[in-house]
Amino acid sequence: MKPWEANIRKAVPYIPGEQPNHPHMIKLNTNENPYPPAPGVMESLYAFDGDRLRLYPDPEAGALVDALAKRYRVSPEQVFVGVGSDDVLAMAFQTFFNSEKPILFPDITYSFYEVWAELFGIPYQTVPLNEQLRICKEDYAVPNGGIVFPNPNAPTGELESLADIADIMRQNEDVVVIVDEAYIDFGGESALQLLDQFENLLVVQTFSKSRALAGMRIGYAFGSKKLIRYLNDVKFSFNSYTMNQLTLAAGVASLEDEAYFRKTLHKIKATRERVKEELRTLGFVFGDSQSNFVFVTHPKAEAKELFEALKREHIYVRYFARPRVDRYLRITIGTDEEMDVLLDFLRDYLKTYADGKNEKA
Ligand code: PMP
Repeated sequence: MKPWEANIRKAVPYIPGEQPNHPHMIKLNTNENPYPPAPGVMESLYAFDGDRLRLYPDPEAGALVDALAKRYRVSPEQVFVGVGSDDVLAMAFQTFFNSEKPILFPDITYSFYEVWAELFGIPYQTVPLNEQLRICKEDYAVPNGGIVFPNPNAPTGELESLADIADIMRQNEDVVVIVDEAYIDFGGESALQLLDQFENLLVVQTFSKSRALAGMRIGYAFGSKKLIRYLNDVKFSFNSYTMNQLTLAAGVASLEDEAYFRKTLHKIKATRERVKEELRTLGFVFGDSQSNFVFVTHPKAEAKELFEALKREHIYVRYFARPRVDRYLRITIGTDEEMDVLLDFLRDYLKTYADGKNEKA
């Protein structure tokens, strides 16, 4: 290391899923929505007056904040927006996790939490999921500097009930609890309903999955007015203009089309339930995902080998070379046609496994 490198902050970055660009690929590796965003989104972009780009965007992102407040029936002062929920979560870590006690999050979860904790120097402790890869609320009744977990959890897809989340809140009235609801629209009940009861609850959601706008980068959070004020103070100490004008217009347009939103969610959930059945028939083992992905293992197939075999066919899924999950694959729910190609491949692959042809490929 050169002397000038000595005082540089060294970070071990989060590794996002690949973004391959093969013309005939089936991309089931980053939990994107297989359907386009609401038609009004593109219309809002075409209608945008380019001359306005000379000007800075509204630092308060008022149009989007108001549209979110209206759609989710909260006050605009209870809404925070950012560049994807990653940005919202990173700000929230910086704002709320400043205790000397460790923050808590599950051992198997969104791996960015650990990266932020390391980057911001936040002490942390991981809490093991149980044998069924579920969060146990009792494990969070210990002294801590804050709590964060996704619901449904990622990469497991397992949903915890609102009653259990409320219990976690009751056990932790002296710290901020962040519930990361990136996937809540695909099945669960949002902790948004608990906001009136708990001033220390932050609920984070995103336009990336259920609203098919991963490329636009819009995330948001709901909390008490006090909590959101603290979050905005940090945001405005960092970057006033996180949300650009086109993004704001697209976000508002997406929220205006509730019917399209519901229709798309319904299709994805129906495909998910069908795929679960077919995967079960093929001998895969998995929990009851309430998300837009399934997290599966097969007693006969090596996950990493299957991952590579799928990749050779330009079918991309996610494999995590981490303890406890390295026998699993996370598969995003795509269109019915895409899932049929995947299922056909799996059927053939497992058949050759059974015939002994795939042993130690
Ligand atoms: N939370 C969880 C649990 C996720 O899986 C993701 C997607 N990688 C995010 C947050 C961040 O999503 P985005 O920044 O696109 O909103």
